[in-house]
Amino acid sequence: MLKVKPAEGYPPEEGRYVRGNDYSPVAVCVILDTFDFAIPKELNELVMVGVDSGAALSGMLQTENIGIEKIICNIAANPNIRYMVLCGRESAGHLPGEALLALKQNGIDESRRIIGSTALTPFLSNIPVGLVQRFNHQIVTIINLLCKPGETDTTVPGLNPKVIEQAVRACYQEEPTRFMDYTVYDIGAYPEPPIYHKITAKLEQPQAHPEATQPGKAKMGLGLMLHKFLPQTDCQKCGKRTCLAFAIDLAKGKAKLDNCPYLSEPEFAENRRALSKLLEP
Ligand code: SF4
Repeated sequence: MLKVKPAEGYPPEEGRYVRGNDYSPVAVCVILDTFDFAIPKELNELVMVGVDSGAALSGMLQTENIGIEKIICNIAANPNIRYMVLCGRESAGHLPGEALLALKQNGIDESRRIIGSTALTPFLSNIPVGLVQRFNHQIVTIINLLCKPGETDTTVPGLNPKVIEQAVRACYQEEPTRFMDYTVYDIGAYPEPPIYHKITAKLEQPQAHPEATQPGKAKMGLGLMLHKFLPQTDCQKCGKRTCLAFAIDLAKGKAKLDNCPYLSEPEFAENRRALSKLLEP
């Protein structure tokens, strides 16, 4: 069976995940349905069960755009990963679980919107279209254990550590194995080399932007670029009505990165570095 070494520097994107066995065929994706600083302990437990059961990566997905882009980058860098187990509760605000399933089923359109997603901003604008297609070919099945928003019963499959463990174990069996409605087994690595793509490596310096010579437009152009790296929750904790309004104030020097509390969280460390790079004088 084909197994390959992941790309040098794998996994390229940082986030709330744990790295396990690089040669495992499965990754676990737990939806994080809160923007509070305290992560519900039952969700942390699912992440740990995923990696302890033998997943290559096990972590959380919070947003329907950059969060999914980071997952795509990390999976394309490891061709051994052929399955995903999607679990946790759907996040009512962002619908990242629905967006991930829609992406696998339908792909993206010309505007890079995930076809069929009803999330607010399901756009994958920071990664090449080819990388999205690679993800959709490499991942053969997403085992969907996603629970409804607000679910509190931890015995339902998507919140039940024992079921997550069974799902992961089924994926690395040598013979076709039934797990709920799925038949899975370790089919070996995707037969193309790993792709190393880091979202922030593609950032243009704002000075290189064609509108940089026109002050008003330059601020707007920079604001739009900054917006891509904000959490995009429009939660208003920074005092602005939307993340875009905050981004434009950042571009004008009227706001600081510290005003957005999420940018101090580990999941957004890479985004914060990208934002700081864009804001360099
Ligand atoms: S920029 Fe403002 S609105 Fe957007 S996530 Fe941060 S605090 Fe919330």
